[in-house]
Amino acid sequence: MPEPITAIRGMNDILPDETPLWLHAETIFRKVFQGYGYQEIRFPVLERTELFKRSIGETTDIVTKEMYTFLDRNQESVTLRPEGTTPCVRACLEHGLLYNQIQHLWYRGPCFRYERPQKGRLRQFHQASAEVFGLAGPDIDADLIMLSATLLEKLGIKSHATLQIHSMGNIASREVYRKKLTEYFLAHKNKLDADSLHRLHKNPLRILDSKDPTLKSLIENAPKLLDHLDSDAIQHFEKLQEYLTHANIAFEINPHLVRGLDYYTKTVFEWVTDQLGAQGTVCGGGRYDHLVEQLGGKPTPAIGFSFGMERTILLMQQATQKNKITNELHAYVITDNEEAFIHGLKLTHYLRSKVSGLHIMLHSGGGTLKNQFKKADKSGAQYAVIIGEHELKTNSISLKSLREDIQQQTLYQDELAEYLKLKIQKKQ
Ligand code: ATP
Ligand code: MG
Repeated sequence: MPEPITAIRGMNDILPDETPLWLHAETIFRKVFQGYGYQEIRFPVLERTELFKRSIGETTDIVTKEMYTFLDRNQESVTLRPEGTTPCVRACLEHGLLYNQIQHLWYRGPCFRYERPQKGRLRQFHQASAEVFGLAGPDIDADLIMLSATLLEKLGIKSHATLQIHSMGNIASREVYRKKLTEYFLAHKNKLDADSLHRLHKNPLRILDSKDPTLKSLIENAPKLLDHLDSDAIQHFEKLQEYLTHANIAFEINPHLVRGLDYYTKTVFEWVTDQLGAQGTVCGGGRYDHLVEQLGGKPTPAIGFSFGMERTILLMQQATQKNKITNELHAYVITDNEEAFIHGLKLTHYLRSKVSGLHIMLHSGGGTLKNQFKKADKSGAQYAVIIGEHELKTNSISLKSLREDIQQQTLYQDELAEYLKLKIQKKQ
């Protein structure tokens, strides 16, 4: 036998016993987004490489070492999307969605980054995201953060995550700060690790984000971006805090929160948890007022966030003990012979059309009634619907509860439909 071919490292299969929880989470995302008036947008997973280079920043980790980039058959460089904001802006510009309009959008889907796989860090992972275009004030920042808080609440993990906020300032003030920070770190060059030395000239703000414990005090004592903000950014940040307080959303100011992409300005935020080891950021977001312009559009203020779905699901499993949500089967139809099976085919078709929301399976593959009963039990169904010799003769159906100790009943087709309808309604 040939060797089996395995999946690519860091690209997970999501198996049938996990998909109900995924579906549950995805449904919450969709409903909450819709409830806040956001519209769904979908775009491809593959884009021109240039798009990400121009937006995310040539010196970021993503662009320097994490992108899945390759030449297609036409020798054109293409990249699997490492994030969604940039392609979302590209799609909006291409279809004129930002022309004198405010847009509240959401999307979800896979992203790809060539990282070292570990718990909560994969090479193919999934994001659920929201973006708002055309609004510049701290009011929408507060409303968007409230949306992220509602999501955490509905997912049942709000009490396990903390909101951290920070301001990246405007581009000019950040440039001044960047110079100061470079000087500071240069003066302590001997204490920096290789990674930070590499970042020193290219992207010194990212050193603040370093997880290396030996750099902790050096980072603690570094000049603070918050002390270098211009008055516009300060006002924006203060107003945001005021709104969040009114909305009863607790937050911490994290002066080292800088995020991994170059395009952020003013507000940035993350929801972090201490329950997933080093991969503690469940949701990250921020304002990116220059990205639309950078990608060839008219200047358009914008803000958004992304939830990492894998981390969200892990946290739901750990924090809420909700490991399994089963996709419950109501009934499993077993038949005694060829004629009974044909009857079963017609019956299941009839029941599916009569009883909305019915989850019913018709046994295939033959076998004795005893064996079919075993399969019915294993399927998790509430009832076995039985068609045997006797039922065929009397044009009836037997219904046996597989979970409760109640007597088997014999019903006609329309009675069975009514019975199942009532049972399903009761459950909902
Ligand atoms: P981190 O600092 O954990 O690497 P990031 O800043 O690179 O995160 P973003 O680009 O902000 O992440 O992506 C938004 C969210 O997507 C993150 O908060 C995280 O939940 C999730 N995420 C990012 N990279 C991965 C990955 N490789 N595997 C799984 N989830 C990820
Ligand atoms: Mg990262």
